[in-house]
Amino acid sequence: MKFEVTILGSSSATPVFNRNPSAQLLNCNEKFYLIDCGEGTQQQLTKYNLKAARIDYIFISHLHGDHYFGLIGLLSSLHLNGRIKPMQIFGPKPLLEILEIQFKYSDTTLRYPLEFFPIEADESRLIFENSDLMVKTIILNHRIPTTGFIFQQKQRQRKLIKGKTDDIPMAYYTALKKGVDVELPDGEVLKSEDYTTPADLPRCYAYCSDTMFDERYFETIKNCNTLYHEATFMHELLDRANETHHTTALQAGQIAKINGVEKLLIGHFSSRYKTLQMLLEETQSVFEYTELAVEGRTFQL
Ligand SMILES: [Zn+2]
Ligand SMILES: [Zn+2]
Repeated sequence: MKFEVTILGSSSATPVFNRNPSAQLLNCNEKFYLIDCGEGTQQQLTKYNLKAARIDYIFISHLHGDHYFGLIGLLSSLHLNGRIKPMQIFGPKPLLEILEIQFKYSDTTLRYPLEFFPIEADESRLIFENSDLMVKTIILNHRIPTTGFIFQQKQRQRKLIKGKTDDIPMAYYTALKKGVDVELPDGEVLKSEDYTTPADLPRCYAYCSDTMFDERYFETIKNCNTLYHEATFMHELLDRANETHHTTALQAGQIAKINGVEKLLIGHFSSRYKTLQMLLEETQSVFEYTELAVEGRTFQL
């Protein structure tokens, strides 16, 4: 099952040096989840041949413009392009009012249902669930209410061994995949473990932007496979990071290490950094398995 994320933007505050504000597209089993929607997200989707029409779920972390200024444009384009299937949006409560006022004064009645689910930033909650995954909020520490998101795959069924099940009626496949042994009419027993292999372990992706270093959210992200964490500044600007409620590259590495994740992606880079190598090196000095969330790159989760 596909479980991967494509970076559409990883700049903080303003678009600079060809870097766009925050947005990522998660593909889980060919369903598409947009995480944040900074200005320019539509252009980025086009640039990387990703179809906006296939997005059915949008998660907005907070109401700083670099995380949602692309949303009204994206929703409007989908309307103009004839979308009729619903769009589910999860975000801070005032976001709905912001969208509605823009639709009101442009005299737009969307052709498709916009289903809005307000997020409270008080405690970590399960906010979404389908057959593939669950999404929980991460309570971050930023200047305004902000939540990160954990995308947790569900336990999958066992996999049939190709070639071994050819002579077995398909009616028994479901039970075998569930790990249940099947008794045939003649008394023969088909053991699930003889015809299937264990399912892949469910995987987990945590998205943390924007926040300062705060142990209170560590419990929620513990042992996640891949962590995306903001690393807005170099550690020499720790005072600035604390003042603006952001994290340094060094701290992002510490957070990955403390919480036992397998892989760290850093992003939300300050517009003061023209190149990113020194941020990467600073994080890697603490946590080796770090990569830059470079736009256009797809990471297997
Ligand atoms: Zn931001
Ligand atoms: Zn912010």
